Amino acid sequence: MKIVILRDKCVGAGSCVLFAPKTFKLDKEGKVILLDENANSNEEILQGAQSCPVNAIEIYSDEGQKIYPKN
Ligand code: SF4
Repeated sequence: MKIVILRDKCVGAGSCVLFAPKTFKLDKEGKVILLDENANSNEEILQGAQSCPVNAIEIYSDEGQKIYPKN
């Protein structure tokens, strides 16, 4: 799985960090940064992405197909 973070969309809600704390972190600006793509399970990472109120986290398969969000 590949994770793409859209930092300019991030509003610092922090729910992604709650679901996948080894993957996502808020920096000093209160915006999400990527720590390690492989530290949480795929399910935890997906839950983190799905919890984001502004869809600032995109998830792709290793083959490059978009998994989340769907549109
Ligand atoms: S849930 Fe979304 S808005 Fe909140 S910190 Fe994570 S990426 Fe940013």
